[in-house]
Amino acid sequence: MTNGADESDLADDPNELTVWFERLDPLQVRTYDDAPIRDDYSNIYFVGTGKSRAHAGRPGRRPDCIPADAPAHWSHDLWAGELPPAIPRCADCAKRHPRPSPSASR
Ligand SMILES: [Zn+2]
Repeated sequence: MTNGADESDLADDPNELTVWFERLDPLQVRTYDDAPIRDDYSNIYFVGTGKSRAHAGRPGRRPDCIPADAPAHWSHDLWAGELPPAIPRCADCAKRHPRPSPSASR
């Protein structure tokens, strides 16, 4: 946790913000027989959906709106760019960092 003293330095240029993915529902690997995973993976199945939520952030600066105990990782995807439709954007981040709409120019 930072003390936020340099928060005012943030230019909040949506074109520079990148995406943090918060893992909402981790995808877990289980085995049918509770044995170790076989070499040919014939005894595994998956639990969970692997669902994620996108937040606007910067490398090394985890957004505060991601719960402290939630797994999250930074990506180089631009916040202003397109995301997979299955991954919703955090409402707080969307309000704080509105994306420039390409269709709003006309
Ligand atoms: Zn957020």
